[in-house]
Amino acid sequence: MSRGNPSAPPIIETDPVRMRETILAARRQGRRVGFVPTMGALHRGHGSLVSRAAAECDDVVVSIFVNPKQFGPSEDYSRYPRTLDADRDLVGSCGARWVFVPEAQATYPPGHATNVVVGAPAADFEGAVRPGHFAGVATVVCWLFNVVPADIAYFGAKDWQQSVVVRRMVQDLAIPITIEVCPTIREPDGLALSSRNAYLSADERRRATALHEGLRAAARAWEAGEDVAAVEGMIRTALEARDIPVDYAVVVDPLSLLAPHPGSAAVALVAGRLGSTRLIDNLPLPPRG
Ligand code: AMP
Repeated sequence: MSRGNPSAPPIIETDPVRMRETILAARRQGRRVGFVPTMGALHRGHGSLVSRAAAECDDVVVSIFVNPKQFGPSEDYSRYPRTLDADRDLVGSCGARWVFVPEAQATYPPGHATNVVVGAPAADFEGAVRPGHFAGVATVVCWLFNVVPADIAYFGAKDWQQSVVVRRMVQDLAIPITIEVCPTIREPDGLALSSRNAYLSADERRRATALHEGLRAAARAWEAGEDVAAVEGMIRTALEARDIPVDYAVVVDPLSLLAPHPGSAAVALVAGRLGSTRLIDNLPLPPRG
């Protein structure tokens, strides 16, 4: 339903005050605004979020900000790929009207001292392996939601725990925005698209399919009625068979991330290490009788 001009390249905006005024002006005209927050190095997975937003909204804004606060001191902040020109073309072809590219100085002005810390859903899994990561995510997403006061924000199911943390924050802080979570886009061999796949050597790329294969095996075992520990063990075994150290391989409740309720839907979450690259993936598991 996007009424933007899909052939016009998106407008780059770097100034938070102007960005906010532009969004508010669009909404005053009765336009529904969709927002896709990203860190850039965009691929078809991000493109799918932008296309969904363009199908459901009148205008779409994509933010690109490699957020230093969500990287640990030994993580890949400085080598994270930055590909602004290609990103702009991609989101333009998917129907974005604006690309918001704030400077780190604007996001975190001198003296910045406020962080948003989400509790329980941020504690385990990525939160345990990457201390401070979700505080960094929640802080920047909260800031972005103030600067880009859109109607709907689109996130990927690929980062399942992140989507749970963001929903929790929006609910707890009464932020007036609707959160939509969109399906994970994959390579033909099942590997979830990720900006970090670019780091993989040819051998690591071949072995990386173990994450999705483990999740698929887990889904079959789940549907066959295996208990949670056995299902988790299948994921772990698939990674270890390809020499991939496992950070976690769990089956949890999709909303609370605690132990799943018998008979209810669940989600399998996995994280593994290929050399210096960490990959995460997940697969929703249906309710079973
Ligand atoms: P990132 O730039 O990695 O922070 O991701 C920005 C948004 O794109 C997040 O909501 C991600 O969950 C989403 N995303 C990343 N990879 C995929 C994928 N393969 N399929 C769908 N969404 C994705």
